Amino acid sequence: MKRVSIFGATGSIGQNTLDLIGRAPDQYEVVALTGGRNIERLAADARRLGAQLAVTAHDDLLDDLRAALAGTSMEVAAGRAALLEAAARPADWTMSAIVGAAGLAPGMEALRQGATLALANKESLVTAGPLLMATAARHGARILPVDSEHSAIFQALVGEDIAAVERIIITASGGAFRDWPLERLAGATLAEASSHPNWDMGQRITIDSASMFNKALEVIETREFFGVSPDQIEVILHPESLVHALVGFRDGALMAHVGASDMRHAIGYALHWPERRDLPVARLDLAAIGTLNFRAPDPARYPALRLAREVMQRGGLAGAVFNAAKERALDAFIAGRIGFLDMAGVVEDVLTRMSSESGLIDAEITLDTVAHVDHLARVRADEAMQAQTGR
Ligand code: NAD
Ligand code: MG
Repeated sequence: MKRVSIFGATGSIGQNTLDLIGRAPDQYEVVALTGGRNIERLAADARRLGAQLAVTAHDDLLDDLRAALAGTSMEVAAGRAALLEAAARPADWTMSAIVGAAGLAPGMEALRQGATLALANKESLVTAGPLLMATAARHGARILPVDSEHSAIFQALVGEDIAAVERIIITASGGAFRDWPLERLAGATLAEASSHPNWDMGQRITIDSASMFNKALEVIETREFFGVSPDQIEVILHPESLVHALVGFRDGALMAHVGASDMRHAIGYALHWPERRDLPVARLDLAAIGTLNFRAPDPARYPALRLAREVMQRGGLAGAVFNAAKERALDAFIAGRIGFLDMAGVVEDVLTRMSSESGLIDAEITLDTVAHVDHLARVRADEAMQAQTGR
């Protein structure tokens, strides 16, 4: 029996993870499931999978969760401290699938227990990559990538020496607006930005795909996880989302990972690693697909990619600033306070301002300093938005 905990169980990655676990219930002992406001979903899954502990991130929902699980012997808890406590429970495999910077601390706690951390929460690596990797090394824990591109790279590197890698190419679908004329983007609505042509994901990452902020995070994630230099990482547009990444070696060979756009592949690979087991994902009919397309991303269209380069060059806590400003700008876009194209402007503004604040970004990366610059970046983003919109 493998003891598993799933953080962010009620989300898109969480539900795909539970789908795989639910297909072989006798092989897993579910330690903890965590969620947010969707108490009904959390309680139903916790009952179905016989979890030992169910946690909502929201203190005010403790009674609701308790009521939803009445009549079971399950432990119930709420709030940030409860999430950390859940992450400290012994488990063999922990899925980190909370969205945003909030996923960092529970993931760190799981690593401190020496667990295998399946990492969907790319924000952990963007905000605190060196800290995360060092914590894993110190506690003999392992991080397995779950982002489709990073799982693809990881698989292409099996049996290879990272020193023989010349470049890593991650693909981007281009998101909802890849075929829109640039002039139309400023008026893009929330509903338009929230639908993805190829992947079914949570709302925030779907919008980040349309703006390419998701790819920007993934470039930084690639650097932090695989330790390659920024100039070895390339992004290419690939509208079909079937090639997830390619690794180029010093002899000129390119190893591509090709598969259906179904996150259960990357999740399942991390769940069964180092073995490969049957997974319920579609098998590609290449003759029916016929053609795969690739093209270079237009820099004018995707300022987020340029900002990612600046973040990597800056190093230190610049990733935490970048991510927090992006999260805040995204909140504002979702709330209808700023336009689609304003998000990149806000992030750039915050990055520029905070980079010049002496010692801020160059402080040692700890959970405290990450939380500090994260908070400050959100305040600065609000200021930037007020200046931009007069609101
Ligand atoms: P989602 O919005 O569908 O789910 C997020 C989960 O996190 C939910 O369970 C929610 O309740 C919980 N949550 C949200 N805010 C929280 C907080 N402050 N504290 C504690 N819990 C909180 O998101 P998703 O699409 O499943 O993405 C999850 C993570 O995986 C993100 O980091 C995303 O970038 C990454 N990812 C997702 C996909 C995908 O296909 N959805 C692919 C690659 C990577
Ligand atoms: Mg991805």
